[in-house]
Amino acid sequence: MRILIVEDELALAGVLADYLHHHDFSTRIETDGARVAAACGEFQPDLILLDLMLPNKDGLTLCRELRQTSQITIIMLTARVEEIDRLLGLELGADDYICKPYSPREVVARIKAVLRRCQSPQSVSEGLEMDPTTLSARLLGQPLELTAVEFRLLHTLSSEPRRVFSRDQLMDRIYPDQRVVADRTIDSHITKLRRKLAQISPDQEVVHSVYGVGYKFDFP
Ligand code: CA
Repeated sequence: MRILIVEDELALAGVLADYLHHHDFSTRIETDGARVAAACGEFQPDLILLDLMLPNKDGLTLCRELRQTSQITIIMLTARVEEIDRLLGLELGADDYICKPYSPREVVARIKAVLRRCQSPQSVSEGLEMDPTTLSARLLGQPLELTAVEFRLLHTLSSEPRRVFSRDQLMDRIYPDQRVVADRTIDSHITKLRRKLAQISPDQEVVHSVYGVGYKFDFP
């Protein structure tokens, strides 16, 4: 498994690379945003850790450009918690976000989780199709207009049909930096998501509320 670390702080990138080697990943470090495309061509990474602030070309631009030509797994690194919401809102198609400062252990755990998720089939139920690379979803063949957060919620729930997720577990997936978010934030996203699902499937619930526990996906 090859990981391209795009990070202009060499000391940080070096620590990360060492840690990843210990976990049997091959790595390459790229410090210049303008050289990322070439590095991808030479190194053929399976996953990119992409810092937001880079010399010559920033992480946002790079993420957009990479997404136009490839379905490679991208984890964005950002120094500010507040940026996560903005990044999600931009719907760049990154697979995950990690907030700096991070521990190498956290990064490895996140890489493994993202790879597991990306390797799971895109269509888990006959009625629902989801494509994480384009954030597009269809229910019963009809397009769902979802926000990035709603997409992540539905993708998480549908990745393990009939498993009940608690609000905490959903928050960990939706807000990976683990900052404190009020429970009702998840509830309001779920409410909006269910409303959209009900427009297409009024008689058959897709996301079920499990009283006192959380939510689950169950759909034929
Ligand atoms: Ca940087």
